[in-house]
Amino acid sequence: MQEFPITRAAVLKPKPDSKTLKFGKNFTDHMFLMNYTASKGWHDGRIVPYGPLSLEPCAMVFHYAQEVFEGMKAYRTPDGGVQLFRPYENARRFQNSCERLCIPTIDEEVFVEAVKQLVKVEADWVPNEPGTSLYIRPFVIATDPSLGVHASHTYLFAVILCPVGAYYAEGINPVRIYVEDEDVRAVRGGTGFTKCGGNYAASIRAGERAEEKGYAQVLWLDGVERKYIEEVGSMNVMFQIDGTVITPKLTGSVLPGVTRKSCVDLIKSWGIPVEERLLSAQELFDAAQAGKLDEAWGTGTAAVVSPIGEMTWEDKSVEVCGGKIGKLTQKLYDTLTGIQWGRLPDEHGWTVKVC
Ligand SMILES: *Cc1c(COP(=O)(O)O)cnc(C)c1O
Repeated sequence: MQEFPITRAAVLKPKPDSKTLKFGKNFTDHMFLMNYTASKGWHDGRIVPYGPLSLEPCAMVFHYAQEVFEGMKAYRTPDGGVQLFRPYENARRFQNSCERLCIPTIDEEVFVEAVKQLVKVEADWVPNEPGTSLYIRPFVIATDPSLGVHASHTYLFAVILCPVGAYYAEGINPVRIYVEDEDVRAVRGGTGFTKCGGNYAASIRAGERAEEKGYAQVLWLDGVERKYIEEVGSMNVMFQIDGTVITPKLTGSVLPGVTRKSCVDLIKSWGIPVEERLLSAQELFDAAQAGKLDEAWGTGTAAVVSPIGEMTWEDKSVEVCGGKIGKLTQKLYDTLTGIQWGRLPDEHGWTVKVC
């Protein structure tokens, strides 16, 4: 694999205090860039000082949102090294997202190498405090200077990095969620299975409304029948009902999370039955009211797992697991974070060493 050329920043920034890091506020000294043109394909991969991009106001991404992104992390291990968690899963999902948005795909090896080489240059930025990590945001944007609605002929791929604090600085507190019955996040045939900015733009209103009512996240229903549970906020969601773990199946409108997949693998390896299937809000609330809902939690790279302590749907509210984190949720959190930060043996071959 090629070594990408590096242009070093003349002045390095002071590192922020890793005890008080905010999500997505401080970016490192360098970024990765690579361009696409129809004649050259993807070319000129390079590591350069982090800084503003210059784009035409008519650049396609600003108007038609031809854009996709990824979210992953680099973790500091006890031996002082740095590692990634299942980066090829992100590379493949990035390709699937690109394909749906008519963006030319990037070779998986090139994607992972871009991330690895950039993280290696910025290894000093990977924080040490418990629970902290270096968040990695690869993204690609359509750059054609034209308002015509068609696939762009030119693109920019970039990777930026920001150190992030422990998600649960004050301990894991189960959240209150609200079943959204007006807005939908995605529909089958749309872009729900991709990580594209447009999905997020469409989800902001429901999130803001839920927050105003005192809820942390919304529980999304499917966009066609408004019956089936799909995701919670920007996380996948799992429920343990009468011992069995149920998670919405990947119908096309659900994002195939790396954390979701890893949780399913772990839960199966522990001998607990897992079903990937349609689950209606009715079935979920019936189970809760019958006392059969053992635990409920969201999964995603940022929080790893996020326990749900209370759910509201129309005029019905149910408490989950006494408003406390459940045993299985805690075990998933401990196991996944143990593997990610290198405190537990990686029996599944999920981690990739950077340095
Ligand atoms: C990123 C994302 C997830 C979680 O995916 P991970 O790979 O586990 O981080 C879930 N839902 C949505 C909508 C997402 O964008």
